[in-house]
Amino acid sequence: MNKNLRNFIESSLHTREKDFKLRTLRSVHPLDEASVIGVEGKKLINFCSNDYLGIARHPKLAGRSQKYISEWGSSSSSSRLITGNQEIAEKLEQKLADFFEVEACLILNTGYQANTSILPAFADRNSLVLLDKKCHNSLISGAVLSGAERLRFRHNDYSHLDHLLQKSEKKKYNQKWIISESVFSMDGDRSDITKLSELAAEYDANLYIDDAHALGVFGEAGRGLVYGNALPEIWVGTFGKAFGSFGAFVACSSQMKQYLINFCGGFIYSTALPPGVLGSIEAALELMPTLEEERARLASNSEYLRNCLLENDFDIAGSASHIIPVVIGEEQKTLELSLYLENHGFLVSAIRPPTVEPKGSRLRISIQAGHKREHIEALMEHISKWKKINL
Ligand SMILES: *Cc1c(COP(=O)(O)O)cnc(C)c1O
Repeated sequence: MNKNLRNFIESSLHTREKDFKLRTLRSVHPLDEASVIGVEGKKLINFCSNDYLGIARHPKLAGRSQKYISEWGSSSSSSRLITGNQEIAEKLEQKLADFFEVEACLILNTGYQANTSILPAFADRNSLVLLDKKCHNSLISGAVLSGAERLRFRHNDYSHLDHLLQKSEKKKYNQKWIISESVFSMDGDRSDITKLSELAAEYDANLYIDDAHALGVFGEAGRGLVYGNALPEIWVGTFGKAFGSFGAFVACSSQMKQYLINFCGGFIYSTALPPGVLGSIEAALELMPTLEEERARLASNSEYLRNCLLENDFDIAGSASHIIPVVIGEEQKTLELSLYLENHGFLVSAIRPPTVEPKGSRLRISIQAGHKREHIEALMEHISKWKKINL
């Protein structure tokens, strides 16, 4: 390795470490719906999984996965456009379209891949992309890759968005895109999709909603938060969270699907999802309408913890979902709290910049349907205890 690169890597890592921002991998082993075995063989109640409904290890998902692997093999062996378009992919897309009541669905390999390659399929340097300030990294990367002019509107601030859209009328753009999430991944608050649709219509802009964290959890039978609204041009959902599987999709018009098949690099130039993954997505989809009880428990667990935190004067950043941040501010303090909780049997991730804004370091608590009330009470007790000593 040349000296320049070595120095660059060393100093970047050093800065991360010095600022308490260094990220490291840690391994865990799943134990049951709500807990894992951590590195030292210790049982930890898991408060950071996105498997909100607790179906990632459901026998129906594993069974369908195994069946599809036996019948179709462990790989799709190429892009869908070459020889990777196995019948099970098309069948699943039809089932998804029926479930979401849209004309068409297109499966993509990951939410990250979807978001980084959909916008570049449309927008170019003559376009304008308006993103919510708290949009996921993948959405921002997609906007950057498209080469479009980018503006960020203040988080969930639609008068700011309106203002930016008004100003944009002075210039000629070939396309305008408004981008938001439905449930924000780090704050757990929600956008107003009706309002976003109205603004898009008013200014002749296109709407792109990432529904990753609402899918399976909100909306009738877990159809997400876009369901029931006017269909945005792009509605992205992912299967790696409440669906307990892996992958992503776009729900859209048939023509939009045809366009993406022809112009979306992440679809064209990547090996299609393997049969085993398609099997577990299909099984999860079939389970979705039967998970009302899990959704109700998830909602009541979440509401309970949010209320406890608010009563104890914690900043939960407007959370209105199962994603509940506890904003601490400083990186070091946040890490200390996360470690303290781990020592007491709770796995809760510390999220620091650049994932969140400077001074926005936080615990990010993910509630699951499988958490027992006593798990949540114990977690709350330990967070409060730590606060008394350390803040
Ligand atoms: C998790 C997430 C993604 C990425 O999806 P993957 O399928 O995990 O790559 C995209 N957008 C949002 C808002 C997410 O939370």
